[in-house]
Amino acid sequence: MYHGLDSDLGYEMGTVVPFIQSHSLNSRDQFTRAFANSSESSMIGVFVQITDDSGMIYESDLLRTHRVPLLQGGPSDGSVSITTVHGHGWPVRVASQRVIVSGTELTVHVIEPLRDVMRSLSEYSLYLTLLIPIALLITTTAGYWISRRALAPIEQIRREAEAIEPTDLATRLRAPPTDDEVARLAQTLNAMLSRIEGGFRSIERFTADASHELRAPLALIMTACEVSLRRERSREELAEVLRKIVREARHMSRLIENLLDLARGDARQRHTELAPVDLTEMLRDLFAELTASAGAKGLVLTADLPDREMRVLGESTELRRLFLILLDNAIKYTVSGSVQLALSLNELEVKVAVTDTGIGIEESALPHVFDRFWRADKVRSRAEGGAGLGLSLASQIVQRHGGTISVQSEIGKGSTFTVLFQAANGSQIS
Ligand code: ADP
Repeated sequence: MYHGLDSDLGYEMGTVVPFIQSHSLNSRDQFTRAFANSSESSMIGVFVQITDDSGMIYESDLLRTHRVPLLQGGPSDGSVSITTVHGHGWPVRVASQRVIVSGTELTVHVIEPLRDVMRSLSEYSLYLTLLIPIALLITTTAGYWISRRALAPIEQIRREAEAIEPTDLATRLRAPPTDDEVARLAQTLNAMLSRIEGGFRSIERFTADASHELRAPLALIMTACEVSLRRERSREELAEVLRKIVREARHMSRLIENLLDLARGDARQRHTELAPVDLTEMLRDLFAELTASAGAKGLVLTADLPDREMRVLGESTELRRLFLILLDNAIKYTVSGSVQLALSLNELEVKVAVTDTGIGIEESALPHVFDRFWRADKVRSRAEGGAGLGLSLASQIVQRHGGTISVQSEIGKGSTFTVLFQAANGSQIS
């Protein structure tokens, strides 16, 4: 705190001592005269007190008003000591040095009153005492206001998200027009809402389609029963109605089975224990089983199978179902010509292709063939006992085995369904 003051005192001592020595001052009169008459600028305004062992020799006039007490002698080695002296009035800062002038040992004290410093300090501490609470109040209020402003968009997103009802999934959150974390949070939540809405809509569609599919055979059964109950029926007529009912009940039972399979497949998407399955043998058996039904439709069923085992990791019942769906469809949707079954190893992938010369699928419909309940021709599919769930089941089975399924088709020329699996080199996939 006194750093500047002390260096001033050192500087003044450096001018006063040479002044005294050069004028050989060592008595009260000499000092009074020399200091009073001095026109040296470095001496003006400098407060000094000169003492010797017997007491005070000289003191600047102004110091009397400060009532500075008689100061002690300086260090005996002639160095300058600086201390603060509290007298009767304001405290003073004093630099003291012993000097010998014309054989007399004197102590020169150069003095700086601390009145101004003390006043400034007390004013300063008063300001601090007043200003610190005000500054604290201002910064706290400003901090609160700024944080409220910064959090306002998040609060708005929270309120909007809270207001979204399950029946109102099309609503989206308003993203602030900035490119910051808050805007990205709103966009991410909106993307999540879109995914949830998509899932929700597909469940809605699936439920509606399933109800519709089940209603049709039930309506047929009820109509058949009601019509036959209107009057007496012969045994043959009743037998015909019963056959119709059995046909529709079978259709419903197949449909329900497929729906259950799809639901089960959805539930166990992960962690299925898989074992190596030899596809050569499985497809050879299927070929033998289906040759007759293809032949009954006048179709030629051919198989291009390798002579050796070709294994993939899988569940044999599910894989059998997959190939049965593809072969069954190929036979169902082919009027004349052939159905070919081919199995080959392509680098590390096992490829199964089912090609037919059937009615084909329109190019625009190809992205939908694996959708649940999708059928190019509902009447035809239903007549063949289908409900549009076969290919979705097939695609689900392929996915669960980590494979891919694709279709190439040309209307009127035929279709090829291709399934690719990794050749077996382990015992479990998830
Ligand atoms: P389904 O055969 O029971 O109707 P799928 O899911 O197996 O149901 O097939 C969906 C639709 O895809 C069928 O209705 C049919 O229109 C079309 N489709 C499937 N396989 C073939 C094929 N090999 N040739 C022509 N169309 C096919």
